[in-house]
Amino acid sequence: MKPCQNCQAVIDEYILDKQLEPLRELTVDDFNVCGNCATVVPDACVECGGAVYVPRDSNGTPDYCPACRSDLIERTGHDPGWHLDTASS
Ligand SMILES: [Zn+2]
Ligand SMILES: [Zn+2]
Repeated sequence: MKPCQNCQAVIDEYILDKQLEPLRELTVDDFNVCGNCATVVPDACVECGGAVYVPRDSNGTPDYCPACRSDLIERTGHDPGWHLDTASS
């Protein structure tokens, strides 16, 4: 049993697991927050159309789900961050 990093509540892995269900490749072991503090937005990933996880330090909904982000890091060798690079200049 580990406490939530955000609200210090004991993490209920059953609830968190339900919360994370739409995400690919991620399990409760990858998170240090409870179900209340984990935000998942369905159908928001620009790569796979799947659910994205909203990190606590993110402003706005990420464009990539964690699985696609790590795919991109593997493919390109650099971290795209959570947001699609919209270089408009
Ligand atoms: Zn919490
Ligand atoms: Zn994705």
